[in-house]
Amino acid sequence: MPAITHPNWLLLPRVSAPPLQAQARPVAHVVTAPSLLEGAGFPVRRPFPSREITFRDADPFLLLDHMGAVEYAPGEAKGAPWHPHRGFETVTYIIDGVMQHRDSQGGGGIITDGATQWMTAGSGILHDELPPDDLVRTGGLFHGIQLWVNLPSQLKWTPPRYQSLESQLVTLVTSEYGDTLLRIIAGELDGHQGPGSTRTPVTVIHATLAPGARLRLPWPKFFNALAYVMAGSGTAGPTDILIHEGQGMQFGSGDVLTFSASSNPSGPSAVLELLLLGGKPLHEPIASYGPFVMNTHAEIVQAFQDYQEGRMGTSPATDYHADPF
Ligand code: MN
Repeated sequence: MPAITHPNWLLLPRVSAPPLQAQARPVAHVVTAPSLLEGAGFPVRRPFPSREITFRDADPFLLLDHMGAVEYAPGEAKGAPWHPHRGFETVTYIIDGVMQHRDSQGGGGIITDGATQWMTAGSGILHDELPPDDLVRTGGLFHGIQLWVNLPSQLKWTPPRYQSLESQLVTLVTSEYGDTLLRIIAGELDGHQGPGSTRTPVTVIHATLAPGARLRLPWPKFFNALAYVMAGSGTAGPTDILIHEGQGMQFGSGDVLTFSASSNPSGPSAVLELLLLGGKPLHEPIASYGPFVMNTHAEIVQAFQDYQEGRMGTSPATDYHADPF
C-alpha cells in the first residue's frame, strides 16, 4: 500500500493512553459489506447505508464505498462519468492507483497514492471521476475509498469547494505502544489535528495495526463511531468480536474504541487496515435520491429540476453522461 507511511512508528507522537477504567464502546451493528457496481460499472463494497447500518446509525456519515483493491486488466478500469451532487460532501481517498476528476466549475486534478479530495458539493456541482487514460490502457492496481459526509440543513446551500489533501500533509501519530500507525486525514484525535477541515465535527483516520497489535483510542463521547476493515483481520470491541476485510461496524456509547490485529494472519494482508470514522450526529431528517441528499422530498424535487435545467452547472457537451438515478 503506497498510502503515506513512516519508517519508524516509534518516533511518531503518541496518542495518550486512555485510563484503565475507561469504558470500551461495544460493537452495536456489524455488516459484511455487499458488493455492487457503481458509476459506469466499477465494483465497490458498501457497508452503509445498509440494512444493518442505516442512515440513522451512520449519522453524520451517509455512504461508504470501498473501491478494490482490484488489479485491473488493460481496458477494464471504469469510473463515474458526469453526474451532479447536492447537499453533502464527497471524500475520495486513493490508497493505490490514480483517480482523475473534473468539475463543472473548471476545476480538476489527480488523486493518488494516499491523497484525499474533500469536495463540498453544497448547493450543487457536476463532476466526473475517472481512471486516467494510461491506467485504462495498461491496467493496474486500484484501491480507494469514497465517503459521503452529510451537511446540516443550514449548510446544504453553501457554495461548492475543494480541499486537496496531499499525502504528505496527513498527520501521522502512533498508539500508546507504538504498534499502530494512525493517519489523521481530517478532524482531530486526542489533540492531534489532521489537514482536512470539516463543516461539522468529524474525524477520518486510516489506521494500520501491526500483527498482534492492541489498539485503545480515546474517542469523544458525543461522537458516533464507525470502523471499516480495508484489509486483514482481528477483533473489535470489549467482547473481541472477530472482524475481517469487507466488514463495517458501528459502536455504542463509551469512552474508547478498541481493536486488535491477528497475530498469525492467514489472509493476504499481514496487517489490519482500518478506516475509522467519528462525527457529531446531525439528528436531521434525510431525504435522499441518487446523488442528492436533502432534508425534505420537496428539496429533492427542486434539486432534480435545478440539475435538469443546468442550475448546478454544465459539463462538456461532447462527454458521456451517466444516468445518476
Ligand atoms: Mn460523484
